[in-house]
Amino acid sequence: MTLLLLRDAQRPARQFQLSRPVIIWVPALAILSISTLVVSLQVRSAHVISKLETNLAAQSLQLEITVSDKEKAIALLENEVMKLSDQAVDMKERIQRMSELEHQLEEFIRKYDPDSSTKETGKNTPISWDGSGSKGGQWIAVHDQQKLMPGRELKDDFEEIQEMLDAMEKSVPRTLNRAEDARKNWEQQRQARLLQARRLELSREGKPSLWPTAERRLTSSFGYRRDPLNGSSAYHAGIDIAGRIGDPVYAAGAGTIKTADQMSERGKYIIIEHQNGLQTWYMHLNGMNVSPGDQVDKGDLIGQLGNTGRSTGPHLHFQVVKQNIPVDPLLYVQ
Ligand SMILES: [Zn+2]
Repeated sequence: MTLLLLRDAQRPARQFQLSRPVIIWVPALAILSISTLVVSLQVRSAHVISKLETNLAAQSLQLEITVSDKEKAIALLENEVMKLSDQAVDMKERIQRMSELEHQLEEFIRKYDPDSSTKETGKNTPISWDGSGSKGGQWIAVHDQQKLMPGRELKDDFEEIQEMLDAMEKSVPRTLNRAEDARKNWEQQRQARLLQARRLELSREGKPSLWPTAERRLTSSFGYRRDPLNGSSAYHAGIDIAGRIGDPVYAAGAGTIKTADQMSERGKYIIIEHQNGLQTWYMHLNGMNVSPGDQVDKGDLIGQLGNTGRSTGPHLHFQVVKQNIPVDPLLYVQ
């Protein structure tokens, strides 16, 4: 093969003689080397791409794990918030129950101590809570953006609980003080009533009311009469009750033995001092069972009927003295 190279008109043309193998091999070698270069580049890029792909997959997996972890954590936190929210409801319920108890205490105080101030109690009437009672309302779905709501509500709940506790912290000691005052007041009233009842009982016990002998027949009444010994008119300061020597004589009421003695006119005689300046006198006794200072109850045996002193026969002279003045015994003994 001949290769002819033509240049400017003044310059001669050149001519190259090329052998057949050169014409075949030179282009063949060139094509081969270019192909080799292309193939090698492709192999390399494929390798790089696959490496990048692997990296990317690893990163995305990592990312996926992270996201799923975060989701789990959020779910856990949501769960915790719900639990806390339940606890908040429970706490509110318990505080309301306590408030209810305080209210009952107020009622109690008002019942036993009506004088205690009732002005401030009315406004603190607690809202009652019944979780099992009737409920209703529109259903509103919770969207993702609202997932923070429970946390906010929880904060409100705890603030409310805080306020309730603050209020109770102030009101409970006050209520307890009032309860204590009411108790003291009531106790004082009770003591006063008991004392009064005891005084009344004592005065009833002390007041002579029992007929002093078994025999109920009178031989002489209270007041002015003809004296049984000298026949002249005289004042009889008691009553004479018939009987036989040795008949039991009883205390007409509870009291203290003032005198148990013997005198020429009265014979053996006993004076019992009762409550309210009252005395009972028992005269002409045959025997005496008591001594001065002895305490006796109503109906106690104090002596025996007799005929001692200025007497015409066995009888009991019974006399009641009120503030040192003899009074009709029949006004007292039945
Ligand atoms: Zn008499």
